[in-house]
Amino acid sequence: MSAVPCPPIRAFIAFGSNLGDRHANLLAAQERLCTSAGINCMAVSSLYESQPCGGPDGQGLYLNAVLEIATALAPYALLQLLQTIEHDLGRVRNERWAERTIDLDLLFYDDLILQNGSLTLPHPRLHERAFVLLPCAEIAPTLLHPLYGRTILQLCTAIDLSGTWRSQQRW
Ligand code: AMP
Repeated sequence: MSAVPCPPIRAFIAFGSNLGDRHANLLAAQERLCTSAGINCMAVSSLYESQPCGGPDGQGLYLNAVLEIATALAPYALLQLLQTIEHDLGRVRNERWAERTIDLDLLFYDDLILQNGSLTLPHPRLHERAFVLLPCAEIAPTLLHPLYGRTILQLCTAIDLSGTWRSQQRW
């Protein structure tokens, strides 16, 4: 774990993989992130499985998790780090919502609200995704979505959770 100067920012990152050794992909991404300069890992959810939504037919199930970090990195530096890790772990960007070795999304960066070409905060689809909300609710149930003014638990009650379940696998 690396030292983070004060005051660190609380941020949340969603992990997903449905290609190759999904468990190894999530472990490798977590290891990379938690040993990066300017990042301290604070909490991690259990592993979840979810049915792919959107994208081509015939994709395998996703393995998902959410990680809470304390970070000294600026939002764009953090996004860049996530994309570097995705690239290093073999993510190939082709069709939208196609299967991928690793997907890392920045969900929240404190309560920052931001929208431009390369970064939207909070992540624009997190409130409609059970595979994000369920693991996030496990580690931060009372976290408030700054745009909707609702907690993660409240957001969970507003969507269909049936395509996502806790995995038998452990970290
Ligand atoms: P994806 O294919 O789901 O990994 O989407 C990656 C694209 O979404 C990149 O071009 C990012 O710049 C953009 N993006 C916008 N907001 C975010 C966010 N909060 N977290 C991750 N990627 C984001």
